[in-house]
Amino acid sequence: MPGFELWGDAERKEVNDVLETGILMRYGFDGPRKGIWKSKELEAAICERFGTPHAQLVSSGTAALTTAMAALGIGSGHEVIMPAFTFVASFEAVLGVGAVPVLVDIDETLTMDPLAVEKAIGPKTKCIMPVHMCGSMADLDELKRIAKAHNLILLEDACQSIGATYKGKSLGTIGDAGTFSFDFVKTMTCGEGGVIMTADEEVYKKCDAFSDHGHDHLGVDRGADLHPFPGYNFRISELHSAVGLAQVRRVDEFLAIQKKNHAILKEALSTIPGMTFRKIPDPQGDSCSFISWFLPSEAITQKVIAAFKEQGILAGNFYWFDNNWHYIKKWDHLKNLSVLYPLHEAQKKALLDLKEKDFAQSDAIMSRCISTAVSLAWTEEQLKEKAERMVGVVVGILENSKQLG
Ligand SMILES: *Cc1c(COP(=O)(O)O)cnc(C)c1O
Repeated sequence: MPGFELWGDAERKEVNDVLETGILMRYGFDGPRKGIWKSKELEAAICERFGTPHAQLVSSGTAALTTAMAALGIGSGHEVIMPAFTFVASFEAVLGVGAVPVLVDIDETLTMDPLAVEKAIGPKTKCIMPVHMCGSMADLDELKRIAKAHNLILLEDACQSIGATYKGKSLGTIGDAGTFSFDFVKTMTCGEGGVIMTADEEVYKKCDAFSDHGHDHLGVDRGADLHPFPGYNFRISELHSAVGLAQVRRVDEFLAIQKKNHAILKEALSTIPGMTFRKIPDPQGDSCSFISWFLPSEAITQKVIAAFKEQGILAGNFYWFDNNWHYIKKWDHLKNLSVLYPLHEAQKKALLDLKEKDFAQSDAIMSRCISTAVSLAWTEEQLKEKAERMVGVVVGILENSKQLG
C-alpha cells in the first residue's frame, strides 16, 4: 500500500535539491531558490498524471478537504452528506467550515449507498461527499446523477484511492473537486501533504489563495499581495513537495506491484468457502491498495480476527468495525459532543442525533468485513506464505463452527 515502503535514492535526490538552496518555502525568494520550485513541479506532475486541469497542494488531506469546501462555498447553514465509514478527517473538515455532517449508510462497495444519500437530502443539503475507501470507488454515475438532479456539489474524498479510476478517469477528478492525501501511509507520500484537484478555474484560484492566508499571488512581492478574502495557512513546504515529486513519478510502479500482489492474495482468499469480495463499481479501476472481503457472520469474523492476533498475522488486516478511527461505532467523541470549542446549534443537534440514528445496514456489512492492506515490500514467497496462513486460519474456524453448528 504505502509509497514510503520503497523510499530510496529518487526521494533523497529531490530533497537534496531543496537542501542545497535552503529555500524551504514554496512561494517567493525567486533569486536564492535558483530555479528550484518543487511544489509547482509536483502540481504540474499531478495534473499530468491524474488528468486534471488544476491542482493545489496543501499541508494535508484534511487541509485539502477544508480548503475545497471553503472554495466551493460550503459553510454555516449547509449540510454535507457523507458516509458512516471513513477516516475522521472527513467530518473534521465539514465541522471546520461550520457545516453540518449528515452521516449515511454504506453498502457492499464500502462507500456511501446512493439510496441512503437520496433519503438524506433536505432543504439544507449543499454537498454530497463520497469517500473512496480502501483503494476503490463509490458508484459515481449514480451519485453524479443524484447531485445533478438536486443541484448539489459533488466533492470526492479520494484521499485513500490515489491511482484508482472510474470508467477511465482518476478518482478525485470526477466531481466538482476532489482531494488526495499524501500523509505517510498513503499510496504516495510527501511525509505530510494533500492536494485539491478541480476543473473549475475559479475554484482553483480560491483554493490557491485560501490555503495561503488569502494571498492573491498576483505580484512578485508577497508583501504587496492583496487579500480578496481571509484564509488559513495550509501551505505545503518545499521539502514535502520534493518527496512527493519523486513519489508521483513512481506511482505507476507502486500501482503495478499492488495489482500483482492483490491478484495473488485474491486467488488465495477466494478458496475460502462462503466468503465474498467487496463490490467494485468499476473493477478495472481498483487501485488494489487493499483487498476487502466478507465472511458469513460477525461471530466468525470476530473469531478470525482474534485468531489472526493470536497467531501473529493480524498486521495489515483491518477490522474497521472495531477500529477507533474509521467507523461511526467508535466515534464517541463526535456523538457525545466532546469538542474543545462551542459548536453552533445545527451542528450540535446533528451530532447528538447520531446517537439514536440506526446504522444497522452498515453494521451488517462492516461487522463481516476484513480489509487486508497490500504491501509493496512483500516478496512473492512472503505473500504466498501469508495468504496460506490466513486461509488456513479462516478455513479452520469455518469448519469448527459448522461442526458446532
Ligand atoms: C488520510 C485520509 C484523510 C486525511 O488525510 P491527512 O493527510 O492525514 O490529513 C482524509 N480522508 C480519508 C478517507 C483519509 O484516509
